[in-house]
Amino acid sequence: MENEPIDPLKRVEDQLKKCVKCGACRTNCPAFAAFQREPAVARGKVALAQHILKDDIDLDDQTYLAMSKCLLCGSCVEKCPNNVPTDEIVVAAREALAQKRGLTTFHKAVGQVIQSRSRMKMGAKMASFLGPLFFKKVPETSGLRLRFPLPFVGNQRFVPEIAQQPFIDRHPEVIPGEPGKPRIVFFVGCMTNFVYTEIGEAALALFRHLGCTVIIPKGQQCCGLPGMSGGDIDTVRELAEKNLAEMERYEADYVMSACATCGGALHRLYPLVVGKRNPELRERLDALAKKTVDASQLLQQLGLNPAETGAGEPIRITYHDPCHLRTRGITKQPRELLKATPGVELVEMEGADKCCGLGGTFNVYHYDSSMTINDAKSNAIIATNADAVATGCPGCMMQLADGLKQHGSDREVLHTLQLLARGLKQRSVFT
Ligand code: SF4
Ligand code: SF4
Repeated sequence: MENEPIDPLKRVEDQLKKCVKCGACRTNCPAFAAFQREPAVARGKVALAQHILKDDIDLDDQTYLAMSKCLLCGSCVEKCPNNVPTDEIVVAAREALAQKRGLTTFHKAVGQVIQSRSRMKMGAKMASFLGPLFFKKVPETSGLRLRFPLPFVGNQRFVPEIAQQPFIDRHPEVIPGEPGKPRIVFFVGCMTNFVYTEIGEAALALFRHLGCTVIIPKGQQCCGLPGMSGGDIDTVRELAEKNLAEMERYEADYVMSACATCGGALHRLYPLVVGKRNPELRERLDALAKKTVDASQLLQQLGLNPAETGAGEPIRITYHDPCHLRTRGITKQPRELLKATPGVELVEMEGADKCCGLGGTFNVYHYDSSMTINDAKSNAIIATNADAVATGCPGCMMQLADGLKQHGSDREVLHTLQLLARGLKQRSVFT
């Protein structure tokens, strides 16, 4: 069936009516905490979307800017007594604005990059090769700082290094496991593929330890979440279709992600944002969502014993809940696994469940506000006196590392899987 060319907000008209303007969504909204203004919170976004739908508001820069002040974290959806899906409404409003005003130059550029894995690969290769021209190593700390500001990237920001070889290129597509054990398709995600390849290696080592067959489809693409931030739904749809076809190429028991954001896209946003607009894809996207699991969730389900895989030097850690795991109810699993890891002491920080301020391209478009949101998080981590902070999202890792360095802290930022696989690394089970 052809897609209907209707105002994207028409599709969420009934959802818009469900808002009773109670304001319960204010409590956990990181955008409200940063901007302290009604248009930043879910209730304000819903009201604004109603006006865009009624066509009784100027679609000027102010309207665009107000709608851009959302991290798509889903905290408001969790808190809303009426189940208003504000994240879905914001994506629809951004799509409507993009249709009426066109994409911004920034989001056009983002779309160009994420549309093609080979273009990203080329960019990553160049960034890795030319990095020293643009970046300087920060003395006494890991991470890089730009030598001079570039568009959308100030020279105060700390960024991680690009890996010399992408994770997907290092491994065969199918890594066979033991007969009768689960077959797992690994949705790697861009940050793990191009930057934090050690997360991919840890995931691979852990699932191989459990005897699973791990399949890493070579044609997988960006999940498309950066496109959702700008209302570039055509790009998101294209990527969702490609990823769907790649994930379906193999008969697998699970589609596993070690990135909270990518997992959240496959699990919630693909069915909501792409499935609803494309009836011919809906069933397949729903089936993909059902199979999608977070790595920590699956490791616990499959009975991983961290005493066999994670033993190492004593380390005191604190844990940050990525929004896209917390809103899927995945909070206990990583903590229980970490607590069972020999040598790991887990201390809770205040506000572990609060957003770190990344929000996909929010961090690029509203960097100062993103760091304002991060202030409380960095201070809470430092107050625990932990040696390191662990989390389940490579995007959060980048944000936490930047925030901590801006606060003068050199604490390590680790993925949960890196701690769970410490013992395997020492035993050279990593490939
Ligand atoms: S909590 Fe839900 S119903 Fe209440 S104002 Fe926010 S979006 Fe509307
Ligand atoms: S998705 Fe997050 S940032 Fe956006 S309105 Fe809801 S709570 Fe606020």
